[in-house]
Amino acid sequence: MKFHGTMTQDKDGLVSIGGVDVQTLKETYGTPLYIYDEKMLEDNAMMFKNSFKHDAIQGIVAYASKAFLTLAMARLINDAGLSIDVASEGELYTVYKAGFDMSRVYFHGNNKTPHELALAIELKCGHIILDNEHEVDLLSDLLSEQSKQMNVYLRVNPGIDVLTHDYIKTSKLDSKFGVGLEEASTIDLIKKIYENDNFNFKGLHAHIGSQIHQEEPFFENVSTLLKYYKTLETHGIHFSGINIGGGFGIYYTKDDKPIDLKVFLKNLIDYLVSNAKYLDLKLDEVIIEPGRSMVSNAGSTLYTVGSTKLTPSGKEYIFIDGGMSDNPRVALYQAEYEAIIANRNNTEYKSYAIAGKLCESGDILSHDTLLNEASPDDLLLMSSTGAYTYSMSSNYNRLTRPAVVFVKEGQSRLVVKRQTLDDLIGWDL
Ligand SMILES: *Cc1c(COP(=O)(O)O)cnc(C)c1O
Repeated sequence: MKFHGTMTQDKDGLVSIGGVDVQTLKETYGTPLYIYDEKMLEDNAMMFKNSFKHDAIQGIVAYASKAFLTLAMARLINDAGLSIDVASEGELYTVYKAGFDMSRVYFHGNNKTPHELALAIELKCGHIILDNEHEVDLLSDLLSEQSKQMNVYLRVNPGIDVLTHDYIKTSKLDSKFGVGLEEASTIDLIKKIYENDNFNFKGLHAHIGSQIHQEEPFFENVSTLLKYYKTLETHGIHFSGINIGGGFGIYYTKDDKPIDLKVFLKNLIDYLVSNAKYLDLKLDEVIIEPGRSMVSNAGSTLYTVGSTKLTPSGKEYIFIDGGMSDNPRVALYQAEYEAIIANRNNTEYKSYAIAGKLCESGDILSHDTLLNEASPDDLLLMSSTGAYTYSMSSNYNRLTRPAVVFVKEGQSRLVVKRQTLDDLIGWDL
């Protein structure tokens, strides 16, 4: 398993993150447990902020909060001076309650309800990314009633195909998101928004997918959008901003060869500036929206091992006290992870399938991982689980949702309490 951030292992095989060892974390908080390396989160935030900048344009980094959001996470992003994306009233409410500077909030979604739009206005959400004409009309009516204005972007679909899992491609032409750049009706919709005084229409937004390891599609997205901006100028439409989405791939296993973001982000913003200059377009701001790449490697999940099982065909399972309820990504996307026995060393290595405790044959977190031979009560640590795990977790089989801790400089702090059995029945009547 590759060690990320502040992760270390002592000579007896005991793993620590943020200077706190996993045995102590288990004794203090129990398992399963989501552990976040707070320094790595902060370092990632600063890396994005410092790399995606340019003298000629304001580079804005909006963390896509659906990857992982709690009050503590929202505060960390706010304190780092970044912006944030939300995609539901729940996410909007969370960042509001965290005290986030609402002018730096971007509200996404392909089917925002009238209630959600009204809440966004009420909470002074800084920007709404419009997705379709119905939403344009809904928001326009709400703003008219209150004689208010809203900064908006329009989500478009540039039709860029990327090499990633089908479920996380977002800009194929038949995607549910945004309006197609190729469609003639899109120009009419853009004019309609541009001419509406309730809107301060800043530009277009295109997010092309997720877990992307190639650089080319990101450059292609920029050039496609800018070419379109040039066409719009012939219709008298001038935009001051552009939002090019997130989707930067990360390391989960040795098969992943992620982009070197520090270098790439600088190249990307340089490319945008020179392209805009060449086309004689004047832009004030460009937004990127990293989610996974902000948090994934900074998070790990700690489990306690139960029994192991050798099947007649020779497959060996190691059972853990969580599974698809705390990490549905393997069942959903055939995601792969690395893991380690985190409380001891021995010389015997075995190939294990890591299976959860839920009543579902698909409840496997790794089909084949080489681990130290394990016994009941050993600790298994799975790395790079910081994105789309806690935020996608469920109470399937009525498992309680695990706690979340931040660790840093030898200290741990609980940021989400473990659910109790009474929490589980708390909504039942
Ligand atoms: C999910 C999402 C992102 C973040 O994607 P990552 O792959 O996690 O970086 C960015 N923008 C939008 C609109 C999204 O829906």
